[in-house]
Amino acid sequence: MGKADRVSAESVTPGSAKPLAAVSMDVDTLTTLLGDAYTGPDDTFCRGLETCLTELARWRLPVTFFVVGRDLSAEPARQIVREMAQAGHEIASHSFTHPQGFRQLRRDEKEMELQRAEESIHAATGNAPVGFRAPGWNVDSETTAILAGRGYRYDSSVFPTLLAPLLKCAHWWANRTRPPAARTTLGDPNIFRAPRTAYRPDRDHIWKRGRLPLIEIPIATTPFWRLPCYGTTLFQIGESRFRPLYDRIRRECLASASEPGPRPAFVFQMHLAEWVDAPAGGLNRHLRPGARTYIPAALRMPLAAKRDIYRRFLTTLCGDFDTILMKDLASRFEG
Ligand SMILES: [Zn+2]
Repeated sequence: MGKADRVSAESVTPGSAKPLAAVSMDVDTLTTLLGDAYTGPDDTFCRGLETCLTELARWRLPVTFFVVGRDLSAEPARQIVREMAQAGHEIASHSFTHPQGFRQLRRDEKEMELQRAEESIHAATGNAPVGFRAPGWNVDSETTAILAGRGYRYDSSVFPTLLAPLLKCAHWWANRTRPPAARTTLGDPNIFRAPRTAYRPDRDHIWKRGRLPLIEIPIATTPFWRLPCYGTTLFQIGESRFRPLYDRIRRECLASASEPGPRPAFVFQMHLAEWVDAPAGGLNRHLRPGARTYIPAALRMPLAAKRDIYRRFLTTLCGDFDTILMKDLASRFEG
């Protein structure tokens, strides 16, 4: 990746009437996603990112990548992350070991996860992260208070969907042979009623507006029904059924673009599994016999099909929205 490939951190045309979108990816490798249920080789970190970066160059789309610190222990991974940062993408923290039950960790364990991830990212890129996303969106008020104390500018772990109780149960059941902490997801149960647009959270109630010196940037959900609108939905229900969710959010962003204050944005989340092929011989061959673990629909699809879907989707998104990094979206709400 050379200098010519550099993306603009804010591809915003002055005076543009387009609403804003911030695209991010949780860089969850097969090992991170499937835990000890997965026994095969894992080169998904570099392979998936290389595929994604090649595609992103089509639109010069700046993306925020939430990386797991321990994945940067090998030089090839550090090298690709360094190049991504130099190219204008943002490298943010997705913890050091990706403990799915992040909210249930002791305070000192949370601090250690953050500190070690900061050190890994700083060693690879020369800069500490300013943004965080909890594994499995499993966040609570203690986490945001710790982040603010460590100087983070934003958190993006709140997923305010009305489907949260259903998704929590489905995740608990799908992971039934994994340890209890790995079966929890989606954070404090009150988060389903959190604001849907970026906000400054309360110190003790993450789902309420308050005065914490940090911006919370929730994952996109539709108005009223609060249906999740992210990569997983796209691959789970297909493009034609996803389109009305996308259009509803786009209309809302367009309608409020002229209102005073910071413009609302479409916060679209992708996962690494949407940019890699299943391992050679098929995923089932590498799953521990009897293991029950959540497997996203995208991991069952060939990469070529996923790439075509993302080419169509991101072409639409980049036509409809001006795209910015998560940290730049946060700065619009900091004033
Ligand atoms: Zn993750």
